[in-house]
Amino acid sequence: MHTFEFIRPPDSAAAIAAAAKSKTAQQGADVRFMGGGTTLIDLMKLNVETPDRVLDINRLPFDKIEVMPDGGLKIGATARNSDLAYHAKVQSDYSVLSQAILQGASAQIRNMATVAGNLLQRTRCVYFRDTAMACNKREPGTGCPAITGHNRTLAIFGASDHCIATNPSDMCIALAALEATVHIQGPKGTRAVAFGDFHVLPGNTPQRETVLEPGDLITHVTLPPPITGSKQHYLKLRDRASYEFALASAAVVLTIAGGKITRARIALGGVGTKPWRSPEAEAALTGKPANDATFRQAAEAALQGAKPQSENKFKIELAKRCIAYALRTAAAA
Ligand code: SF4
Repeated sequence: MHTFEFIRPPDSAAAIAAAAKSKTAQQGADVRFMGGGTTLIDLMKLNVETPDRVLDINRLPFDKIEVMPDGGLKIGATARNSDLAYHAKVQSDYSVLSQAILQGASAQIRNMATVAGNLLQRTRCVYFRDTAMACNKREPGTGCPAITGHNRTLAIFGASDHCIATNPSDMCIALAALEATVHIQGPKGTRAVAFGDFHVLPGNTPQRETVLEPGDLITHVTLPPPITGSKQHYLKLRDRASYEFALASAAVVLTIAGGKITRARIALGGVGTKPWRSPEAEAALTGKPANDATFRQAAEAALQGAKPQSENKFKIELAKRCIAYALRTAAAA
C-alpha cells in the first residue's frame, strides 16, 4: 500500500501553503485536499490516486450555506450535498440544483460528499479505475483504450484523441445551468471563475480537468439572485433507478411570459467531457412559443455537434428526448 501523510491544517493559509508544495496540478497531484473523501478514498484504495500528503479541510470554516445581500446564495466548499439539497432556499429558488443532487449517488454518500469534492469528481471510465490498463488521464502518454474499447457510457461532446471520458457529476450540470461562480483561494490570492470556465476539455492533457493550480483551494460557490418565476427541472436517464451515473441528463431553467420563452439556460450531463452548457438549445428556445415543437427543435440544435463513439450513438437520440422531456416538464410546472 502507498503510505501517505495525513494532515489537518488549522486554517486556509496553512492548507494552501502545504498544498502549494505539490509538484503537479490539482488533478492526480501528490498533495490532495480531502472533504468527504467519497471519491478520493475510493481511488486511493484502487491505487488510482496515490498522494503523498492528504490535507483534511473539514475543520476549515467553509461549511455554511448563506443567503447573500443581493438575494443570491453562497455555498461553502465543505457544505455537504445533503445539506445543500434540502436547504429551504435551494428547494424554493434553485430547485434544479436540489433535484440534481438528490438524483446522484446514495443518501449515505450525499451525507458525506462536499460541494467542492463534487466539483472535482473524477470520471467513471472503467479503464481509468483499473491500474492494469493504460489510461492517458491516470498515466499521461500511455494511451486511451476506451477509444477502441468499452465506450458506451463515455462522451459525445468535448472528446479528444487522448481522452473521451465523461464528467460524472449531476450537481455540476445544475450549477452550469444556474450560471454559478467558483471562488478560489491560492498562493497568488483569491479569484472567481465562471462555472463554464472551471472545467477544461481534455485536449492533449486529460490529466488536467480544471483550472486549479497547485495550492488552489476552492472556498465557496455562489449563485446569482434567483430569477422570479423561473421554471426548473433536472431529468436524469440511466441504466437503473438509483446509485447510477447518467447516460444523459438535462438541467433546464426557463422563464416564460405570455406563452413565450423569454430566457433559457440548458446544461447536459452524461454526454460531455465537462458539464455541457448548450447555447445552441438556449438560442433555439428564446423568443419561441413554449410548446413541444419548440422543445424538439431545441433538442435537435443541442445535439448537432455531437460526435459519438463506436458504442454510444444511442446517446444522441436519448439526449434529445431527455432535453425535450425536461423542457416540457419545466414548462408545465
Ligand atoms: Fe483514460 Fe480518458 Fe481513455 Fe478513459 S477515456 S481510458 S479516462 S484516457
